[in-house]
Amino acid sequence: MTRLVILGKQGAGKGTQCALLAKHYHIPHISTGDMLRTAVAEGTHLGLQAKAIMEAGELVSDEIILGIVHERLTQADAQLGFLLDGFPRTDAQAQGLMAMLAPNKIDVALDIDVPDDVVTKRMLARGRDDDTPEAMQRRLELYQTETAPLLELFSKGGFLVSVDGLGTELEVHGRVIDAIERNRSL
Ligand code: AMP
Repeated sequence: MTRLVILGKQGAGKGTQCALLAKHYHIPHISTGDMLRTAVAEGTHLGLQAKAIMEAGELVSDEIILGIVHERLTQADAQLGFLLDGFPRTDAQAQGLMAMLAPNKIDVALDIDVPDDVVTKRMLARGRDDDTPEAMQRRLELYQTETAPLLELFSKGGFLVSVDGLGTELEVHGRVIDAIERNRSL
């Protein structure tokens, strides 16, 4: 049973590391960003609500996000563990997650640490539709004000593991697995 939360700015390599981790632990990779992008592409009610918010680099409301995560975590494949990517991003989401899981807890909150100038370069190279310079800047700001404080919260709970995100995908993956296993055995 492995319940993981992956933190880290956009462009920190979360997507790549999550794909490797999902394989390693045989758990579903649950990305709120991917779920929202699918909803936008399909033109669902959720997609229509989220589209402009995402394009501006703002955060979709906690209520909507907690609703989609709750629904996803009740599905069969998530009963033996999961990997949450891009969630929680706010204090309300973190509290909501803990309430959803109680009496269980997450095993590890993993922070992939990469400096701002590196993530900006990577995001420009990736060129996703919603990666305008203004939106990227706004996402970094929101990471600092809303998401970075969660590091403290997870650290207090003994869940936080920080890993240097510079290096090749496999170098970082090795560090991530070592750090998760070390923290789990504490
Ligand atoms: P991501 O792919 O995780 O960077 O998410 C892309 C965009 O989706 C973000 O910039 C937000 O607009 C929205 N989003 C994804 N996850 C969340 C979340 N947990 N809370 C609020 N908004 C989110």
